[in-house]
Amino acid sequence: MPPAPAPRLRVDVSGLPRYVPGRVAPSDLVDKLSSNENPYPPLPSVLTSMREELGRVNRYPDAKSGELVRELSEALGVPPEHLVPGTGSLGVARDLLYAAAGEGDEVLFAWRSFEAYPLLVWATGATPVQIPLREERHDLEAMADAVTDRTRMIVVCNPNNPTGTAVRRDELERFLDRVPGDVLVVLDEAYREFVDDTDVPDGVELYRDRPNVAVLRTFSKAYGLARLRVGYAVAHPPVAAALRACTIAFSVSGLAQAAARASLHASDELLERVRTLVTERARVTRALRASGWTVPDSQANFVWLRLGARSRAFTDACEAAGVMVRPFGDEGVRITIGTPEENDRLLKIAGDWRA
Ligand code: PMP
Repeated sequence: MPPAPAPRLRVDVSGLPRYVPGRVAPSDLVDKLSSNENPYPPLPSVLTSMREELGRVNRYPDAKSGELVRELSEALGVPPEHLVPGTGSLGVARDLLYAAAGEGDEVLFAWRSFEAYPLLVWATGATPVQIPLREERHDLEAMADAVTDRTRMIVVCNPNNPTGTAVRRDELERFLDRVPGDVLVVLDEAYREFVDDTDVPDGVELYRDRPNVAVLRTFSKAYGLARLRVGYAVAHPPVAAALRACTIAFSVSGLAQAAARASLHASDELLERVRTLVTERARVTRALRASGWTVPDSQANFVWLRLGARSRAFTDACEAAGVMVRPFGDEGVRITIGTPEENDRLLKIAGDWRA
């Protein structure tokens, strides 16, 4: 019998870039500073809400995440119809891409940036256009220059993963003034809550007067719910409606809705933890610089070391000492800010390595 033909698929994965997630920590004895997670465990009130929800897992959740949307709408001061929750901001980003771009279109983003972008763009059939960072920062002038008739979406990761650098209000506004109104600009603000520089704009303020701007936020980082997968977009009604049309039904589980709502209710306490992490970020940055490292100013919950060809060796040295960090090829290493004790251990390794 001749071999059965392989199914014909829309996407040929052989040439696609892969998303390489941070490895699972081999044991609890390891400090996991590799996935930009929040090091603090869930609050008791969040666990209580999830426990109540557990008794209902035989039922589908609220498909519209109605209560979550209402509470987010109050917290952010935006109309509920401008909010679209989804399966992590990654899931929302994918749906937005499907809503905006396809075969023959171009999607622009800085590089290096969040490694999921090229993969998500390829899967829509659109072409990713990567604009190199300049001195570890978005080169917004070059990004605006790169817009063509085929550009359908531009993603600005602010603060940028993995460099931690953030674009300022004046440069972002100048950029938005240059981008044609029919190109969707997505401000990926996964790390927004860690920003303490007042010159870094809040996307939710910026989007209000700009129908072509959408903002992505998540409960994974500052709110510490990475494993539950819940994020959302803030966008004007035409964009929000198109996004909803591309979202699978029930994309936010009941457990995730319950935990996200309980986290919003406890946001004072959770944002206090964020302040601790921001203080630790400053301490880690100062200490690394004092021992000779070059560290870009970070506005996120991680710092970036451009180690080039030495990235793997440094990662291995950290792992040998029980600290997991994230190498990006031969470019550099990203280190998540952990608890003060975890950061102390990292600083000891980094100090010894330089010495
Ligand atoms: N955007 C950026 C810039 C990120 O770094 C991440 C997570 N690493 C995400 C989006 C996705 O986060 P989540 O899907 O957990 O909301």
